[in-house]
Amino acid sequence: MSCIFCRIVAGEIPAEVVAREPEVTAFLDVQPLADGHVLVVPRAHAACVEDLKPAEADALFRAVVRLAGPVRAALGAAGTTIGVNNGEATGQTIPHVHVHIVPRWPNDGAGSVHTIFPRHVKRKLPEVGAAIRKALS
Ligand code: 5GP
Ligand code: ZN
Repeated sequence: MSCIFCRIVAGEIPAEVVAREPEVTAFLDVQPLADGHVLVVPRAHAACVEDLKPAEADALFRAVVRLAGPVRAALGAAGTTIGVNNGEATGQTIPHVHVHIVPRWPNDGAGSVHTIFPRHVKRKLPEVGAAIRKALS
């Protein structure tokens, strides 16, 4: 098993685990962006969000919802930024789906999710909406 997050889930390599459930494991990021930076991962290996089975996706997001409050409370944070780098092009470095929960404080120097995008938008909303609806059908 070469995937580092699969090995953490299996208990083969150490991590600061904060929650271990049948379908999901949550542990502290080894290089935290802030105190209390938690990674929530599905037990089953899936490289990206699109690869998750419905039940795995349910369990993952339910765990994120369950953890968000206690992580915030434990660190005395004002909020949390919750995000997924989904695919190598987005900066995902570990190809096993993981949800970042990063505690936030007023004036902590970090931006919102919006600040990572340069807003290079070329297409009109109706055209984009139609394309996505077609892909969904
Ligand atoms: P990504 O860039 O793929 O969204 O985030 C991967 C995260 O995993 C990074 O924040 C990185 O610090 C963390 N990470 C990488 N290897 C390990 C590890 O062996 N243990 C833990 N706890 N976190 C790791
Ligand atoms: Zn894996």
